Amino acid sequence: MIPAPPLAPQLTTSEAGASDWRLAWRQAVREPAELLRTLELPGLAARVSAAAAGQFPLRVPRGFVARMRKGDPDDPLLRQVLPLDEEDRPVPGFVHDAVGDLAAGGATGVLHKYRGRALLVATGSCAIHCRYCFRRHFPYADQTAAAGRWREALDYLAAHPEVDEVLLSGGDPLSLATGKLAEFTRGLAALPHVRRLRLHTRLPVVLPERVDTELLDWLAGQPRQVVVVIHANHANELDAGVDRALAGLREAGATLLNQAVLLRGVNDSVEALAALSERLFQAGVLPYYLHQLDRVAGTAHFEVPDDEARALHAGLAARLPGYLVPRLVREVAGAPAKVPL
Ligand SMILES: *Cc1c(COP(=O)(O)O)cnc(C)c1O
Ligand code: SF4
Repeated sequence: MIPAPPLAPQLTTSEAGASDWRLAWRQAVREPAELLRTLELPGLAARVSAAAAGQFPLRVPRGFVARMRKGDPDDPLLRQVLPLDEEDRPVPGFVHDAVGDLAAGGATGVLHKYRGRALLVATGSCAIHCRYCFRRHFPYADQTAAAGRWREALDYLAAHPEVDEVLLSGGDPLSLATGKLAEFTRGLAALPHVRRLRLHTRLPVVLPERVDTELLDWLAGQPRQVVVVIHANHANELDAGVDRALAGLREAGATLLNQAVLLRGVNDSVEALAALSERLFQAGVLPYYLHQLDRVAGTAHFEVPDDEARALHAGLAARLPGYLVPRLVREVAGAPAKVPL
């Protein structure tokens, strides 16, 4: 049996009981005008799209904003979060459910597309809103596993003994209170066929405050192997606070991997990709996947054509040790795994 973690004090709703990460979460920048003021970029206001911001609002933690360069309209971190008018341009082939999630998902928030691995859409919330995200149109409200319904997800896993790895994804699963995560892993204790737990999360990078003692105690108490796949697209996303959070996760026993998305204007050069791999390794993280963009409505301006993506990947392989070269893949609806380019 898993020893039950101590009750979470920040589960109380009072302001006084909220831990630092919840405060940092709530204090995220949500107004494009404020972001541009902070970054001393008044000229960019004319390119901000109210329609895009209405469909998928700006949200970016202040600590992440602090890693952006002031006065640089092409900052690779800014480009990931600012709703620009390029998003309003309809482009043929860029659709709402690009990866077939609506077809694969049951009512339980479980996406079981690959043999041996089941992915739980644990929650729809994220601390940051990434403009290129394939989930920006996903109807989370009815399809999350944690919405009082871990039971259904656990029942699904119990009925599928071939699943030996459970992925918590989202949204960002670390948006959930640690007590909520612990509730899930207590349920997993009855399912010995689940040997690995994997978290797909951008929070250690965008809101490293989330990696607090309570979370680390919960992770360290897991009887099964834990993999944490973080999500950083550019070396500038990592700073000393992120390094500390990642070191904590490693000390708690997690294996750390990174997935990135290849994004025009963010990391579409051999230099940027090599710097990202080097910086990740310095923080104890191995590059795992470099994803070709999912063709989701509003993201066409981020796309890098396949030929160029392959050339960049070859350039990276010619420059770095093999273990710092992520696999270049794309998600194809109906395929049994991520598809190498
Ligand atoms: C990407 C993904 C996984 C994980 O794939 P790996 O190749 O094991 O990293 C699992 N389930 C779903 C639904 C996915 O989209
Ligand atoms: S799911 Fe990941 S990529 Fe998408 S908005 Fe949330 S943090 Fe960003």
